[in-house]
Amino acid sequence: MNLLSGIVHKFRHSIIFESQPYTTAADLAKAHQIARRVALVVGLCILSVSLIRPLMSSLPIFFVLVGLITSAIFFAIWYQFHCGKWLNHSAVILLGAGNLILLPMVVLSGGVMTQYAPIIMILPFVSMLLGGARLAIISTLFWSLFLIFLYSLGHNDYDLTRDDWELGKFASRTVWMVLGTVVALMLAIQQEIRSRLLLNDLLKLSEIDPLTGVNNRRGLENILEHEITLSSRTRHWLTVMIIDVDFFKRYNDLNGHGQGDLALVQVAQTLFNHARQEQDSVARFGGEEFVVVLRNTDPVAARRVGEKFREQIRALNLIYQAGEREVLTITCGFYSVNSGAETQEELIGQADKALYFGKANGRDQVVDAQGLG
Ligand code: GH3
Ligand code: MG
Ligand code: MG
Repeated sequence: MNLLSGIVHKFRHSIIFESQPYTTAADLAKAHQIARRVALVVGLCILSVSLIRPLMSSLPIFFVLVGLITSAIFFAIWYQFHCGKWLNHSAVILLGAGNLILLPMVVLSGGVMTQYAPIIMILPFVSMLLGGARLAIISTLFWSLFLIFLYSLGHNDYDLTRDDWELGKFASRTVWMVLGTVVALMLAIQQEIRSRLLLNDLLKLSEIDPLTGVNNRRGLENILEHEITLSSRTRHWLTVMIIDVDFFKRYNDLNGHGQGDLALVQVAQTLFNHARQEQDSVARFGGEEFVVVLRNTDPVAARRVGEKFREQIRALNLIYQAGEREVLTITCGFYSVNSGAETQEELIGQADKALYFGKANGRDQVVDAQGLG
């Protein structure tokens, strides 16, 4: 019961239903290619099983014919996908076609006693791979109910093997096959959840700067894309701020690269700690430059945030050289918009202009790009 409620709970908040693994056209093309290859292998397996089995035991030629006809239909459909047609429904149609091959073979060769049982138990995995969790569940439900239906028919004339089945085995075979298929579904779901979790971890890792622990350039691109969309919808202010450590080359030269790295970590952590946790994002843009994206932040508030950052970095008291009074400082350039029309490049470009101005103007200051004209 615990296991069952665990599964139900997992499903409700399921990453296997909510996440969208394929986002770009290239991803989709790759997914289609994998689906086509898997379908081809499954189709070939079913075709060879349906051909070889009757050849090895003395069964009516009828079985070979059924196998050939259904396989011909399957490969005709498969070929359409191969030529790039109906791609958006490839998983459903290919699986439907695969099931159509299997169905008559199961019905005609012993029903629940069929030797095709092992193939039925592969279907949840194949469905999961081709079409995701929904299709896997539908596939499992369909075959489980169909097997029970066949059992309810008992030993009938539709069985063309004419084998003398031991009736007592019908019930145990049905239970065994249905259970096997359901267990296969559970394993497929577990495997899918595991790989999605790993994939999510990897995606997160790929967006984090290993030295400072804040977002890296790739993470920043995603953040900006999201924030620009949000601000163009709500028409709320959005501020992009570029922060560059002043005379950092000198700090490195005097204290060594290792100390330089430590200083960068402290700078990043300070920016992170003084940004709003839910609404702002900190990223390392490269080298000793950081970008902070501030949601719902107009130019007045942005300047306040910039000044706070400047103060807090000064307060770290990172001295260039022992005995010197001069501490490590930053220069901030920012650009605020609420028109919703700017691209990432424009936002960064304008903020960078302000930063450049601040550098030329003596460093250790906060500059608004709008004020530059
Ligand atoms: P400015 O005030 O004009 O920005 O001067 P700056 O010296 O900070 O700028 P510059 O671009 O001349 O030098 C940046 C320095 O940052 C040079 C480079 O060695 C250092 N740096 C970049 N990335 C890292 C890093 O990951 N670790 C360390 N320790 N230093 C880095
Ligand atoms: Mg610098
Ligand atoms: Mg720089």
